[in-house]
Amino acid sequence: MLLLIPGPVTTADAVKTALAQDYAPWDNDFRAIVRKLCTDIRDAAGGVPDVHVALPLSGCGHFALEAAVRTFVPPGGRLLVPGTGAYADRLQRLAREAGRAVATMEVGVRDRAQPARLIEALRRDPDVTHVGLVCSETGSGICHDAPALAQAAHDLGRRVIIDAVSAFGALPLDLSALPAVDAVILTSNKCPEGPPGASFAVCRVDRLEAARGNAGSGSLDLADIHEHGKTTHGGARFTPPAPTLAALSVAMDLHRTEGRPARLARYTANKQTLYDGIRALGLTPYLYAALQGPIIVNAEPPAHPGWNLQAFVHALKRRGFIISNFYNTKQPTFRVGCIGAITPGDMSRAVDAMDDALRELAIAA
Ligand SMILES: *Cc1c(COP(=O)(O)O)cnc(C)c1O
Repeated sequence: MLLLIPGPVTTADAVKTALAQDYAPWDNDFRAIVRKLCTDIRDAAGGVPDVHVALPLSGCGHFALEAAVRTFVPPGGRLLVPGTGAYADRLQRLAREAGRAVATMEVGVRDRAQPARLIEALRRDPDVTHVGLVCSETGSGICHDAPALAQAAHDLGRRVIIDAVSAFGALPLDLSALPAVDAVILTSNKCPEGPPGASFAVCRVDRLEAARGNAGSGSLDLADIHEHGKTTHGGARFTPPAPTLAALSVAMDLHRTEGRPARLARYTANKQTLYDGIRALGLTPYLYAALQGPIIVNAEPPAHPGWNLQAFVHALKRRGFIISNFYNTKQPTFRVGCIGAITPGDMSRAVDAMDDALRELAIAA
């Protein structure tokens, strides 16, 4: 069975093997695995030794996003999140419920966030201390130019938190050139092709040290996690998802071997095979080709009374492919992920399976 969803993704056999073992989190060999993993993650983010540190957290990406907001946006601070879609909405909600003031800037559902518009929004709202940016908006499939937006924020003296959850490991990221970024958030189970259960914040050490006491949460305090890691040589405060971390360290070895640009090229080829294949079936992708990112493709369902998302998903599942069984755009669109240990050949077979599934549902697409 192949997962064609934008996380968790299909993993390589070596990753599954590492997952199927028991690990003692406090064991020195295991700590060495985690230390190396954190170095690999920092390096893959373009972080600089001693300037940046990768901190692991148990749980999903939203836990790490909430931790970053709580840690870096101080009580009384104000976070502006360009409204790029479903994941930008969630980031705003996390911040609001953490008691931080939130502002937004409208972005069309089929538009990229423009640095010039961000500059205007920040000039109009001098109380904004931080900007939260979604790199790859997994709701729509659009990738935004996070480095250019972060630079715009920097020019106006604002700090930045980047949600790179569905981008990290595939899209370029060079923290060494982005001094305004306090934290970049990522998870194991998207483009790094690891299992679910662990997330990371790659943070500036100086900002972490200035952020003590901000979080207002014992669990989601990156400054405390950093402090604890320093005194215990990479030890976790609480029980870490040990098999997930060990399996991710194998996945990051595979990532290094493949290379970040080659991984992006593979996902781009997956996306193109899917995008062209869907069109050849007579379906309409949600995004114009020029806006379509390489992580997820949404497509409009056939305008046919026989259409039924659950039946379509089920018919695909019987043919070996799992796609999302819910809509994530205001206009209903079915979503197919292009990431994970999958190839353009897999995508081409998935398109054939969609063709069969549509026939089975008696839909002349
Ligand atoms: C997947 C994702 C997240 C985090 O999702 P979790 O389910 O909490 O792991 C956050 N932002 C984006 C853009 C994502 O794609």
